[in-house]
Amino acid sequence: MRAFRYEEPRSVEEAIAVMGRPGKNRLLAGGTDLLVRLKRREWTVDAVINLKRIAGLGGIEDRGDHVFLGPLTTLEEIGRSELLAARWPMLRETVHEMGSPQVRAMSTVGGNLCNASPAADMAPPLLCLDAVMTARGPQGERLIRLQDFFAAPGRTVLAPGELVTAIRIPPAPAKGCFIKFCTRRAMDLAFVSVACAAVGNDIRLALGAVAPTPIRVPPSVEEAVKRCAPIDDVRASAEYRREMVRVLVRRALARVAS
Ligand SMILES: Cc1cc2nc3c(=O)[nH]c(=O)nc-3n(C[C@H](O)[C@H](O)[C@H](O)COP(=O)(O)OP(=O)(O)OC[C@H]3O[C@@H](n4cnc5c(N)ncnc54)[C@H](O)[C@@H]3O)c2cc1C
Repeated sequence: MRAFRYEEPRSVEEAIAVMGRPGKNRLLAGGTDLLVRLKRREWTVDAVINLKRIAGLGGIEDRGDHVFLGPLTTLEEIGRSELLAARWPMLRETVHEMGSPQVRAMSTVGGNLCNASPAADMAPPLLCLDAVMTARGPQGERLIRLQDFFAAPGRTVLAPGELVTAIRIPPAPAKGCFIKFCTRRAMDLAFVSVACAAVGNDIRLALGAVAPTPIRVPPSVEEAVKRCAPIDDVRASAEYRREMVRVLVRRALARVAS
């Protein structure tokens, strides 16, 4: 790993200022994506900016018109949250499908979404829940619907110097499920994932790992199959993935309807 500067800002403003310095500067949350890429030399950086000393970027809170999910909230905290379990049990179901206890203790929800992997497991359920990201940067604060947040594999619409400071979930409870299909029972990335939620009478569906980004699709098997755009890779063929979308979406819609 190449040497880099290590920064520990104490406020969001300071983090934005440090990110604005010349060179390639990367934010660090749990580090479970970032450090792996640095060690493999897939990324080189001039500075790593640790967000964990900044107060207010973690935690889960009912704020009336939305539930605040701090980007530094770990997957383990999401799995233990009674507030989330009471409204959206599918979030607990999702984190239990992710990594290992050690990985879940370090990994954050913000890191999972900002890493923008097509297979990011937190994305499909949060897409179903209409989550909205709060981003802050040199130009101030803005809200970005999670549906509009992913730009391409590994890329979000965040502008240079912007960071996510909150994930807001509208308060309506939802009955839902998350189904992850992978070759191993643990510590594996999905080659297809499906989240489905019923918010009142509104049925919502989202897919992971079968398009350049996680996507919301209309709640029908035919539409899901039509709109996914899977690729062939070492783990599965596009044809097999498309067939699994058909199977898993049917299963998810039936589970939410039961
Ligand atoms: C063994 C292992 C198993 C794994 N299993 C799974 C799995 O089952 N499912 C899955 O989806 N993932 C899995 N992952 C990937 C990873 O653990 C998750 O994506 C995790 O949630 C990333 O969070 P983090 O806090 O570690 O992110 P980091 O590595 O700290 O950051 C990831 C990226 O997001 C950026 N970032 C972080 N926070 C912010 C912010 N607030 N604003 C803007 N940018 C930000 C960072 O700069 C970096 O580019 C696994 C990883 C490992 C090593």
